[in-house]
Amino acid sequence: MAVPLLDLKAQHATIRDDVVAAVMDIVDQQAFILGDPVGQLECSVAGLSQVKYAVGCANGTDALLLALRALDVGHGDEVVTTPFTFFATAGAIHNVGARPVFGDIDPRTFNIAPDTVRASISDRTKAVIAVDLFGQMAPIEEVIAAAQGRPVIEDAAQSIGASRLVNGATVMAGQAAAIGTFSFFPSKNLGGYGDGGMMVTQDESLFEALMKLRTHGSRRTYFHEIVGYNSRLDALQAAVLRAKLPHLAAWSEARRRNAAYYDAAFADLTDVVTPYIDPANTSIYNQYTLRVPERDALQAHLKAHEIGSSVYYPLPLHLQPCFAYLGYEEGQCPESERAAREVLSLPVFPELTTAQRDDVIAAVRTFFGH
Ligand SMILES: *Cc1c(COP(=O)(O)O)cnc(C)c1O
Repeated sequence: MAVPLLDLKAQHATIRDDVVAAVMDIVDQQAFILGDPVGQLECSVAGLSQVKYAVGCANGTDALLLALRALDVGHGDEVVTTPFTFFATAGAIHNVGARPVFGDIDPRTFNIAPDTVRASISDRTKAVIAVDLFGQMAPIEEVIAAAQGRPVIEDAAQSIGASRLVNGATVMAGQAAAIGTFSFFPSKNLGGYGDGGMMVTQDESLFEALMKLRTHGSRRTYFHEIVGYNSRLDALQAAVLRAKLPHLAAWSEARRRNAAYYDAAFADLTDVVTPYIDPANTSIYNQYTLRVPERDALQAHLKAHEIGSSVYYPLPLHLQPCFAYLGYEEGQCPESERAAREVLSLPVFPELTTAQRDDVIAAVRTFFGH
């Protein structure tokens, strides 16, 4: 049986009536710009993230861009971040006119290593962006300490609803940073039916700045205090996301069950490193990512058995052609480079059936001669 990496149709089938009703309600009202569904979703996501304020925006990339602008990051500034992430994290830094400076990752979690943040700080460092990769939070309290008073943005595009125990208290993804950012791209754990994003903060003045930035720098129509963007969260997307949000916890639980099932099934494979979750973290497994020395051969084998898999990410950001001007060379972020050669993500979506899971496992095991 063919197993896709992600099956959005399977999820849609379970919620179709609710989503269609919510969308048609907006269509009947012809109320497409901001309005109730956006405000209500902002309220719910703020609650989930244990923060005071949430601001919807057009996508997760804009969420980073607006967060950087709200923190006054621009020309001449440096922003320290991880090279092992989706492109948008560093693209946003470049697009506000600042310079990305890359640390390196902890090879176990794939998240940024706080000591490399500390080592990358200079007089020009204006902010740090930590990424909660593959569904588990970066050690956010350690990144904040390493930033030495500079604001930290938490790119939680892959980790909405993930949490971390810090000094006995549960900290939600996005909560501890100056600004946390989310993406509602369809393949994220809370995905819209198109693009969408959100920013969360505890700080009222940052909230005001973000609200302004998403509507051309104006809070009063046609009066512009700063130059902002047109980056609103679409009301239709907010309606879809509101219908999906009540299911998020159960979907994350199903992903954790699938992950535990794989962990047990691969435990005896000496060439396979299963995902390491920091004991302080509860992951939402946006990806279930193995490390395998013969990664490309395994991926070809899975493809031949019609098992979906993907490499997130094949080229770390410090080696991307567009960042050649930064002057990085191979060998400067060794753990990210090694991860890029060894990682392979397997299907872990919540609707995965037992039969599908067993097919994935059988295909992986036959590759290693079991
Ligand atoms: C998906 C993603 C983004 C960008 O989100 P979009 O909504 O696609 O713009 C940013 N950072 C990370 C880590 C992501 O996974």
